Amino acid sequence: MPTQLYGIPAPSPGQNTQMGLRPPNTTNVMDRGNLFPQAPLSRAQILERVNAIPQKPNTESGKQAYEVDVNAWDQMHGNAPPSLEHPYPIKPGMAQAGSGECFGCGEITDPPHMGYTCNATEPLCPQETHWHQLVMNMLW
Ligand SMILES: [Zn+2]
Repeated sequence: MPTQLYGIPAPSPGQNTQMGLRPPNTTNVMDRGNLFPQAPLSRAQILERVNAIPQKPNTESGKQAYEVDVNAWDQMHGNAPPSLEHPYPIKPGMAQAGSGECFGCGEITDPPHMGYTCNATEPLCPQETHWHQLVMNMLW
């Protein structure tokens, strides 16, 4: 027969209700981590990838270098859409992707205009338009 220990009161039903306080619920945070193992990229991380291909200066040689970049991109990725893994070259003289530029021509005007009101004489190629849209959707 076990010896009764005095000084250590056995839990009584009345005490159980006081000890029933739940610890702070952290399971939701952990569940989120399991559901979305890849944390969304921060704005800075997105911009870093967007700028992976440096924009060429708006000069004749810069435009030629841009053409080389575009041709290289097309050869490597074909008709695949641009993505953060495969950033598209930005046309010289045009705004950086995700800076509020027009998707049609790549320019920021005052007042701003968007693709459906764009009447640029030299619109961007479809891939570059897509790229501007993609970056904008991620940043805004
Ligand atoms: Zn435009």
